[in-house]
Amino acid sequence: MGTFTFQDIYEEDGRTILELDILHDNHCNFNCVFCPIGGTAIKRDQPISIEGTEDSFNDLINLIKENSIDLVYFNSNGESFINDKFEQIVDYIKSQGIKVRLFSNGYMLGMPEYIQIAKKCDEVFGEVKCASENSFLKYQRPVEGYSLEKYIENMVAFKKQFAGKFNLIVTILRGYNDDEQSICWLKETLDKINPDVLSVETLTDDVYGKAFGIDDEKLNLIKGVLT
Ligand code: SF4
Repeated sequence: MGTFTFQDIYEEDGRTILELDILHDNHCNFNCVFCPIGGTAIKRDQPISIEGTEDSFNDLINLIKENSIDLVYFNSNGESFINDKFEQIVDYIKSQGIKVRLFSNGYMLGMPEYIQIAKKCDEVFGEVKCASENSFLKYQRPVEGYSLEKYIENMVAFKKQFAGKFNLIVTILRGYNDDEQSICWLKETLDKINPDVLSVETLTDDVYGKAFGIDDEKLNLIKGVLT
């Protein structure tokens, strides 16, 4: 039985997109308190064999054969790198002349084990949330040994080598990174990473929007500073 979750194929700006999750549970290198998918089942940053991947890979191959797909979008519940067949899957998609988009939290993009895989993608998304070492450890609860400094270094290193489009999402969280000092830090950090596309957002969903979201007026003020 397969393990991937495929979304219905959809159109975006004239392109046909196949979006999928290649993790069975939420395998992530963080366990953020504001995780929109409900937290991490297995916290790790090393690849593992995920049962059902082979069957799902065959399902993916069939979907590609039966449909005219322009882009495959890896938007997993957690970090797609943790599925040890990720590179093989990306290689297959690229061999079919199809573009690849990867949504990542960004930390693993610059790690030597993963940068070569990430560079095979055409579009990559990274994220920045907490704006101090203390809040990063306390609220994003990464794998032991991680630091905010290294997180940013990884994305800077990746962007320098990446020939595709690097999109960065900054999430503004009330009481976590919406103060003046945090906004200054974010501004300096964005200058270092130098993304091709920048989005500044807040949380708006029913579960976390009330606890962490900021209002539109404040969000627009912060966008004015950061963009
Ligand atoms: S990085 Fe994303 S998927 Fe991972 S725990 Fe944090 S919010 Fe959830």
